Amino acid sequence: MIEENLNRIKSELPSGVKLVAVSKFHPMEAILEAYQAGQTVFGENRPQELASKAVQLPQDIEWHFLGHLQTNKLKMVLPYATLVQSVDSVHLLQAIDNWGSNNDKIISVLLELHIGAEETKQGFHEEEILDILFHADDYKNICFCGLMGMASHTDDQEVINADFERIDTFMAYLVDLFPELTDFNQLSIGMSDDWPIAVRHGSTMVRIGTAIFGAREY
Ligand SMILES: *Cc1c(COP(=O)(O)O)cnc(C)c1O
Repeated sequence: MIEENLNRIKSELPSGVKLVAVSKFHPMEAILEAYQAGQTVFGENRPQELASKAVQLPQDIEWHFLGHLQTNKLKMVLPYATLVQSVDSVHLLQAIDNWGSNNDKIISVLLELHIGAEETKQGFHEEEILDILFHADDYKNICFCGLMGMASHTDDQEVINADFERIDTFMAYLVDLFPELTDFNQLSIGMSDDWPIAVRHGSTMVRIGTAIFGAREY
């Protein structure tokens, strides 16, 4: 089942769009099944769960962190994550930079842009991201790799379309404005229900959980 799901998605995904299999809340056997089917990039959203899976599962798995990250949990995430997709505050960015400095590591991050309609959804506003990138030099141990966003939780395709268009436009604007940030080229948009729309709006990375692993049990 997992293998079939993966193969179907991969056959529809344009080449050049990276598939992150979101394995949060799913057991290690499910991850291994996907791994054996050729999937090597996985996303988790809880620090402890990421650390525990990362030490036990094959070492060539590339882990992405995509949840809310508290600064006291960095040591469970940063040793394992290749990319932190969900940086949503300057406080967190500074803490990651410090950790990188103390551990002699450059940490790759995406800045999360708030695009959904939900009040509670995390993420920066456009002006905040501009402000951070104008001061990118201050973060010696951070590699700014692009933006991440989550569309409004709705079935209305027009709304989702508008959300993704907004982040795609902003991404293009940033790439123009900051040519010196040569790694700033990833746009992580698209989940199980909306990834085909995201792909039409310049997604370079989709984060798909349910459509691969089935429903999560919380
Ligand atoms: C859980 C999660 C996903 C995957 O969601 P699905 O709808 O199961 O594909 C993608 N991105 C983030 C940030 C998530 O927390």
